[in-house]
Amino acid sequence: MPDTVTAGSPAPGAPLSHGGRLDPAAQAQPFADVKARAAAAITAATGELLDLSHRIHANPEPAFEERFAAAAVAEVVARHGLVVERPVGSLETAVRGRLSGGRGAHGPRIAVLAEYDALPGLGHGCGHNTMAASGVGAALGLAAVRDAWAGEVVFLGTPAEERGSGKEIMLRDGLFEGVDAALLYHPCDRNHVEIAPLASEDVAVTFSGFAAHAASDPWKGRNALDAMISLFVSVGLWRQQLPTHCRVHGIIQEGGTAANIVPSRTKAWFMIRSADQAYYEVMKRRFTALCEAAAQAADVEVSVEYSGYASTMKHNRVLADLWVANAAANGVEDQGLDPTSGSTDMANVSWAMPAIHPELAISDSPVPGHSIEFREAAASPRADRTVLLAATLVAQTALDLLLDPANAAAAWREFRGETAP
Ligand SMILES: [Zn+2]
Repeated sequence: MPDTVTAGSPAPGAPLSHGGRLDPAAQAQPFADVKARAAAAITAATGELLDLSHRIHANPEPAFEERFAAAAVAEVVARHGLVVERPVGSLETAVRGRLSGGRGAHGPRIAVLAEYDALPGLGHGCGHNTMAASGVGAALGLAAVRDAWAGEVVFLGTPAEERGSGKEIMLRDGLFEGVDAALLYHPCDRNHVEIAPLASEDVAVTFSGFAAHAASDPWKGRNALDAMISLFVSVGLWRQQLPTHCRVHGIIQEGGTAANIVPSRTKAWFMIRSADQAYYEVMKRRFTALCEAAAQAADVEVSVEYSGYASTMKHNRVLADLWVANAAANGVEDQGLDPTSGSTDMANVSWAMPAIHPELAISDSPVPGHSIEFREAAASPRADRTVLLAATLVAQTALDLLLDPANAAAAWREFRGETAP
């Protein structure tokens, strides 16, 4: 992975340089001069952006509780001239920053997204601190060249990606209203412009029985843990009949309070997933039936609550091609579709407007996602370089749309199915 963006600040107006040499691909790129100015502005903000990434990494906050991160990103984008609202919509930790083009507000409206939630007990094992910093970096890169474009840039700090589908809530809150394209980047150990996320949903399962002394009169109790164990056994057996594109996995959050009390209440957090939207509905019905059967077997009550739905992704080839061209101009070779993705609420956005979810490597060697190794990688010098690179690629892809509205129109034609993807 080259580190074009950190190699030094290209002079404003100069083509992007690569390892100190002029890059022919960059010279041939459309709007290369404006793109180079945006890249230079991002490079000039290196200290601010990496400080932001590291501070968020050191203060991990789970979904819906990203108060430190939301305040931190809001402060930096406000410093660079965006009009900031925090909170915005119904989520306390959502942020919106707006910026009109110097050539007028009439033009494409492009959303630059920044995630910042962490994983409970693991911290930034998904590296969203790098997404927060790169989203901010893209916004300030676009602000630095606002004299060149017409339209509007909407920076959105998007909470709760790991659980709860914050972007789905923000869609319903109207925060994506009028947006022509939604852009972000996600860290990985490879470079993939597209992912194939699984439809997914969180499920809270609660069994309610009746407490009794576990030795003197256990027959007076109704055991909520029995139901929970039955459910895990049923799910384990169900897996062998599931198509390979399906996943079901869960943890027990409450399993009783003492060994000498018949457990009256148990609670689990499951996720069910499928690469096939229609099959996902089949899974959901079956999972509910397994919960009800486990409750019946143990003579307890059950509540099954589905929340935070994420869909499969609607790809947009127009946006993907623009990203890949910008990546190539910055010396990054893209590997196409990532076949091993999890799930993301960005997929929900992709059904409302043209969107992409490209990945860039923050490590030169394989690192599993949601792991301690990935968490460490997310604050490494390698990840720092990727923060700047991602900010540059998001800003430059946004510029392709802002400087040439025909690109945005083409993305919409593909979205509406008027052209072949
Ligand atoms: Zn993630």
